[in-house]
Amino acid sequence: MASGTALIYDEAMTRHKLLWNDPICDIEVPERLSASYEQLQCYHLVERCIPVPAREGSEEEILLVHSSEHLEAAKSTQTMNEEELKRISGNYDSFFFHPNTYHCARLAVGAALQLVDSVMSGKVCNGMALVRPPGHHSQRNAANGFCLFNNVAIAAEYAKLKYGLQRILIVDWDVHHGQGTQYIFEEDPSVLYFSWHRYEHQEFWPSLKESDYDAVGLGKGKGFNINLPWNKVGMGNSDYLAAFFHVLLPMAFEFDPELVLVSSGYDSGIGDPEGQMNATPEVFAHLTHFLMQLAHGKLCVILEGGYHLRSLSESVCMTVRTLLRDPLPQVTGEMAPCLSAIESIQNVRAAHKPYWKWLTCEVFLPFFFLNFPILPMSIFSFMFVLNCFSLLLKDAAGNDFFSAALGFILPVAYSYQPNLIVIAVGPNRSLGISGISLLFGLLQGLAESRILAVIEVRSDINLMQSVAKALAGASMPHFGVHVPPTQEKVNQIKKLRNQLQQDWKMLQCSGK
Ligand SMILES: [Zn+2]
Repeated sequence: MASGTALIYDEAMTRHKLLWNDPICDIEVPERLSASYEQLQCYHLVERCIPVPAREGSEEEILLVHSSEHLEAAKSTQTMNEEELKRISGNYDSFFFHPNTYHCARLAVGAALQLVDSVMSGKVCNGMALVRPPGHHSQRNAANGFCLFNNVAIAAEYAKLKYGLQRILIVDWDVHHGQGTQYIFEEDPSVLYFSWHRYEHQEFWPSLKESDYDAVGLGKGKGFNINLPWNKVGMGNSDYLAAFFHVLLPMAFEFDPELVLVSSGYDSGIGDPEGQMNATPEVFAHLTHFLMQLAHGKLCVILEGGYHLRSLSESVCMTVRTLLRDPLPQVTGEMAPCLSAIESIQNVRAAHKPYWKWLTCEVFLPFFFLNFPILPMSIFSFMFVLNCFSLLLKDAAGNDFFSAALGFILPVAYSYQPNLIVIAVGPNRSLGISGISLLFGLLQGLAESRILAVIEVRSDINLMQSVAKALAGASMPHFGVHVPPTQEKVNQIKKLRNQLQQDWKMLQCSGK
């Protein structure tokens, strides 16, 4: 099995900069890249990674996604003077050209492709590419929102072409909607695109109708475009985790990707002037950890936005630490998603119900703003919930397991924030080795990875080996074809959720 984490950084990508006054574009500074790299050096993370050089993406590679007109327009800027650069920049929404922009953008594309090659060839298990200019707003025929070429979209097309991949997951946790990526893949069922973004009912840039939850994809691509709009600022750790538990992760496990690409913008982190969200750097460690459980751990993280240098560089370090399999820090703050986040989560689940097996048994009711009475968490509630874990897993055949693990166990565990986790595996279990291993993998993000396995002595050696591998951070075994959870299990989980969500608020994913 591949091991190691690639890190791609090339100082040359700091040579793209704004030459005139522009209050919209002046936050996309070269220091975004250098500050992130310096922080990685400061924490001695650079020396623990495998350095991979960037290269220029070729014209053919850029043309996998972009039109030749767009490529030629970008190429022509290399010899322009400032006046000409300013004029051509004005043709686009929120973009600036510098004579070095074209070269930097080709390096950004090439860095993303180098990362894909390193991961797909087995040279490393995962990795991160620090690139500028970013990519996810860039469209087939246009630069947009600081982005010239769509690095992640080109990486996905390249991976399909070169490695014959049929299922690629793109997770866009940047605070802006990657509308460029959506347009490129909206009819393509081989790429599952997930984006959460500040939306505020279409008030926030790029203010598009198609950034809302009901844009689920087109034609054959229906169901493969997941938009989770944030209609308020101030979303925090628990809102982001709830989005993973109740939307992204169940879809991702059902989709079963062969490669995961992250459009990794950190403007969704605390302090960022663009996002105005409250998520702390630690949460990016947990989000990264969850994605490492997919696609046999093949995870390529590619930088997008992030404009608060401290928040950006700390979050980059959290991501790289996690890729290196360091124990995860505890997430801070009250573990309770806000009502606006719950409303968005319910809307996206309802919009995607026709396309996903795990949602087929769900019944969606109109959203109610309920004020749950605050009850002190009792020892009875705690004992009861532990009992529920074993009951839910007892006869969790096949994909009932995903509903139980993602829809119940993880939310409760994150609500509780334990200091130690003990998982006991007894005889006569119906849960398969893959399920048990994944449970260890998922829960390992908690309690700073203090996790004990208690396994009945007569258990088979394969189980012990598999659990030991999961504890050592090996990638998860394959789960096979996804079948919907049974109606009985879904009802059981729903009943428990309703019963327990007053104490365990991360269980909330609907208003009822
Ligand atoms: Zn952004």
